Amino acid sequence: MESKTVLVIGAGVQGLTSALLLLHQGAKSVTIVSEASPSDYQKRDPTYASPKAGANWQTYAGNTDYRLQEYDELTYKALWELSVLPECGIMRLPGFEFYNEKPAALQHPWYARFVRNYGFATAADLPPGKQFGVKYDTFTMNVPKYLAWLTGRVKALGGKLVFGKRLEHWQDALSAVPGGKVDIVVNCTGLGALTLGGVEDKDCYPVRGQTILVRAPQVKRTIGTSLALGGTRAAGGKVEEEMKVTYVIPREDGIVILGGTYQKHDGSMEINADSASDIMTRCIGICPELVVNGKLPEIVEHSVGLRPARYGDCRLDSQYLKTSSGREVLFVNNYGHGGYGYQSSWGCAYTVAKMVRRAIGCSQNDSLLSQFVKEVVGSKSAKL
Ligand SMILES: Cc1cc2nc3c(=O)[nH]c(=O)nc-3n(C[C@H](O)[C@H](O)[C@H](O)COP(=O)(O)OP(=O)(O)OC[C@H]3O[C@@H](n4cnc5c(N)ncnc54)[C@H](O)[C@@H]3O)c2cc1C
Repeated sequence: MESKTVLVIGAGVQGLTSALLLLHQGAKSVTIVSEASPSDYQKRDPTYASPKAGANWQTYAGNTDYRLQEYDELTYKALWELSVLPECGIMRLPGFEFYNEKPAALQHPWYARFVRNYGFATAADLPPGKQFGVKYDTFTMNVPKYLAWLTGRVKALGGKLVFGKRLEHWQDALSAVPGGKVDIVVNCTGLGALTLGGVEDKDCYPVRGQTILVRAPQVKRTIGTSLALGGTRAAGGKVEEEMKVTYVIPREDGIVILGGTYQKHDGSMEINADSASDIMTRCIGICPELVVNGKLPEIVEHSVGLRPARYGDCRLDSQYLKTSSGREVLFVNNYGHGGYGYQSSWGCAYTVAKMVRRAIGCSQNDSLLSQFVKEVVGSKSAKL
């Protein structure tokens, strides 16, 4: 790995996390090239989902979706450790999932075996209209702070970042490295993979998500609804339910993200006032503590982002490609994570690092993620 020059395209949660693990694996150099910068989190950018996420860990993986299960489980375990570092902006808190009716064949979902404090919601936990719920310890990420922390770690390990460059073709990124001498390209362009020359993946599509950011430090639990027990795809997911996913995601700074919408193939970046008022009503319905002494929470911002979804799920694979100058590069894809890019991020970056190691003939190292986390967390790990 020490002789390899790496180029990562994209500075979302997937690009930054992948770059970080490749730097930690000892790559000679890692350069991130991206149109958007993590400090642009207030802009409405159709090809930059990361700043617009909730973001919590509430898995989408169904009981037989072993690939996504692995990504999500690895990420849960990494977030658990990293959450001891206040600078990451990761908060541990109780997470509730509520359902309109008790699933016919009640099964423990796949994640019950490792999430902390898994159990059923009590009658007192259930909001009106919901018949069933589960609860467990989970995380939320303060997105601007978390992205800034990832960026800082990339820089601290010697990574370079080049922002403000819209690429027509992936090969345009090669100019960010002297002489274009790149050995490995990691494509983390999210929805940008739909149009990026040389990739143009027509299976990618946007899923619009509108949210409201409110100030409500009294909310101390994250709540999700409309996902079938064990993951959306486990039960097929009804379209009308998908359009109106209702969730409440508090961050460690007292801001709470209220959602939302799940609008497939809708690329509009405008705020819809009717959706906003519907979101507020639905969220108060499942989280009455949003209202204090009859007063609605202060609205800080209305937000909209496009989840970078993909038919057939996220793409993690690699191939050798030739550049126009005849140089062979290992081209790794890591995009299309829809609404689960944060909660799968460490597992996906681990898979990228393993794919790269295998392709370039390094011995396998199954503990590379736990080694990284251990080093970052250091002695604070003992406080868990
Ligand atoms: C409302 C909402 C709520 C969400 N909630 C959650 C949640 O609770 N939990 C969770 O896990 N996930 C959540 N998500 C999903 C999550 O935000 C995404 O899956 C994740 O951010 C995708 O990260 P990424 O790095 O793959 O892509 P992005 O963050 O979209 O980054 C893509 C990068 O590629 C760059 N790029 C693209 N095309 C080009 C080009 N042609 N030239 C140069 N640069 C280019 C962009 O500038 C950007 O840097 C949510 C999303 C939304 C919208």
